[in-house]
Amino acid sequence: MNTECRGKCFPITVDFFIFMFLEPHFRGQRSGWIEVVCGSMFSGKTEELLRRLRRAKIANQNVAIYKPAIDVRYDETRVVSHDASSIEANVLSHSSDLLNVDSEINVVGIDEAQFFDMQLTDVCQELALRNIRVIVAGLDMDYRGMPFGPMPNLLAVAEYITKVHAICVHCGNLATHSYRLSEHDSVVLLGEKDRYEPRCRTCYSMGNIMKLI
Ligand SMILES: [Zn+2]
Repeated sequence: MNTECRGKCFPITVDFFIFMFLEPHFRGQRSGWIEVVCGSMFSGKTEELLRRLRRAKIANQNVAIYKPAIDVRYDETRVVSHDASSIEANVLSHSSDLLNVDSEINVVGIDEAQFFDMQLTDVCQELALRNIRVIVAGLDMDYRGMPFGPMPNLLAVAEYITKVHAICVHCGNLATHSYRLSEHDSVVLLGEKDRYEPRCRTCYSMGNIMKLI
């Protein structure tokens, strides 16, 4: 992108910016905070969640990670990213179970947050008030392009939001949508590349036509 100033300045060439989330350190902060990592399927949400949790461990923080009981695609008790890295996780059937977190825990990671109940937002806010750093990863939209479960509410109350993107398998642009390849119409249908593909807005809007190209 070329940006030319009309005044007495010089042309600036900006190829691209790389934004990498760095942990905020505010001395004397009286509470924790909420971070949300969102995006489509195959966008690297879980990789980013695991990256932050590993860095917190290096900084001698006590870390706990949770996932909903519904998500057992890769492993019953581990959070596993598409690149096969993993951390042992606690599997919960209801978000209120998070309130029993050990008082020694400094950082709570939550994966596949869209599958949790709507109470998750209040639970995360309660944890933040207990001085816990809460990192939530999840799909912002379901396969219909609609806000998914508690994610929109979490995005509203979070201090920090990171939207990550996959690559559209049809045109190579940034992908924001998860296109479902099968005919099932239930909102929750677990699956991988056999059932979903990442698409940009335009290719998503073209629906099944794109399957034929
Ligand atoms: Zn596309």
